[in-house]
Amino acid sequence: MPPSTPRPPQKPSGLDCRLAVLGANDVRLTPHRREVFQVLAESNDHPTAYDILHRVKDRSPSISLATVYNCLDHLTSSGLIKAVHVERSQTRYCANLHEHVHFHCDTCGKVRDAHPHEMAFDPAQFWQLPAGARVSRADVSIHGVCPECAAKHAAKA
Ligand SMILES: [Zn+2]
Ligand SMILES: [Zn+2]
Repeated sequence: MPPSTPRPPQKPSGLDCRLAVLGANDVRLTPHRREVFQVLAESNDHPTAYDILHRVKDRSPSISLATVYNCLDHLTSSGLIKAVHVERSQTRYCANLHEHVHFHCDTCGKVRDAHPHEMAFDPAQFWQLPAGARVSRADVSIHGVCPECAAKHAAKA
């Protein structure tokens, strides 16, 4: 569209925010990659590729699992999303824009985001990294038992 055309004010999508934050406007996104990212940005339960396929199918009925994997690989290598590795289980994916680590419940398997208390949290200062190291991304996971599982266990005891 010509630049003079007035555009209705648009709420920036998660993808637009993410691209702006990363300064990665040169990341080329096909419509499928965009759909997959949008679905992930709207999910807070760290879905697997299968979960994402089910959710994307509502919008793009023709999408295949192979395409979803392909999109996820591209988005992960572009730094737009994080792959969350779960032991003995399928990789899950996360599009949370904010600095966070993953809390894995060893009982129910749920993965939740845990944000730092200190908003100015800087992983390069918190962790004793080699002098001069530059952090491009942090991939920390913390394991334990979630509050729901802990409550169930307490009720049984
Ligand atoms: Zn996450
Ligand atoms: Zn749990």
